[in-house]
Amino acid sequence: MKSMNVDDALRKMPKTELHLHLEGAVDVYTFAELAKKHGVALPEHNDPAELYQYDSLVDFLVMYSAVSHAVRDHGDFQRVTYECLQRCSNSGARYVELFFSPESHLEIGVDYPTMLAGVLQGVTDAQTDFGLITNLVPAINRELGGARSVEFVQMVQDHREDRVIGVGLDFNEAGFPPENYVEAFELAAKVGLHRTSHAGEVGPAANVGNSIDLLDCERVDHGYNIVDDPAIVAACVASQIGFTVCPTTTTYTSAFRDLAAPDHAIRQMADAGLNLNINSDDPAMFTSDLADEFSIVHHTMGFTLAEMKQFALNGIDAAWIDDSTKAQWRADWSTEIDALFNEVS
Ligand SMILES: [Zn+2]
Repeated sequence: MKSMNVDDALRKMPKTELHLHLEGAVDVYTFAELAKKHGVALPEHNDPAELYQYDSLVDFLVMYSAVSHAVRDHGDFQRVTYECLQRCSNSGARYVELFFSPESHLEIGVDYPTMLAGVLQGVTDAQTDFGLITNLVPAINRELGGARSVEFVQMVQDHREDRVIGVGLDFNEAGFPPENYVEAFELAAKVGLHRTSHAGEVGPAANVGNSIDLLDCERVDHGYNIVDDPAIVAACVASQIGFTVCPTTTTYTSAFRDLAAPDHAIRQMADAGLNLNINSDDPAMFTSDLADEFSIVHHTMGFTLAEMKQFALNGIDAAWIDDSTKAQWRADWSTEIDALFNEVS
């Protein structure tokens, strides 16, 4: 007897989460509590849930900064990391590569070893309690410029831990193109850190091509505006480089605000044959979670269950894990997903 609701199957299916910002995953009530604890001023509100409202990338980044300023001591970092990973586990995530934004805490005097130790404790606790494996990707705030980005990578290397496996590049692309960060990414490659970058979210398709060609990125975060440049699309189809796409946040921060539209970038990218995986980006700040994103892709964007399975397996391809683990997970997850989808009524 077939008995499972499709959304339950999409929630339970094993998946990766490769594009998730710790600070964007802070529950709004936890944020309000930590803001009170540390005396961080908040805008007028009746219920804390009202705080997470914005309609542009710039507005969102202002609130992202306020959230970051409320997370300060070891216990705060441990708590928000644990809560974030608990929601990942409840979404069916089996493996997470978690971005965090050191600069957003350094700017108010929190030191890097303190935040890293707290985050690592949350990661360890989540692995013990949920069996969820997590690695860390400190992300460069591109708005601080190329010179600072080199110092940032050096700081990450000076405090290297096994779970710190790569660096990202995020915040607003406007005025901060990839070519400014060549030296930082060369240093990252030299010390054995993996590399990814936000590109083509609000910036042009050229930012996608330059992130790959100049920064030697091994995958691309977002990438939507690549659809404006067929030559870059063709190159990325040929290489099968992974794109971490994030459906819900496209409707707030990108030019593609209608997920049901046949020309939404994610639909165009998939139809072109690009290698996409599905992620949640800033789930708490946009009232979503990873399983919700999978449901949206299936119901609103019209991707079939076979395609949903492929997106999950693409996440394994794009993950920074060894080849034998990838092969094992591909086989195991494939069997598990087929069994789940077979139960869908
Ligand atoms: Zn992001």
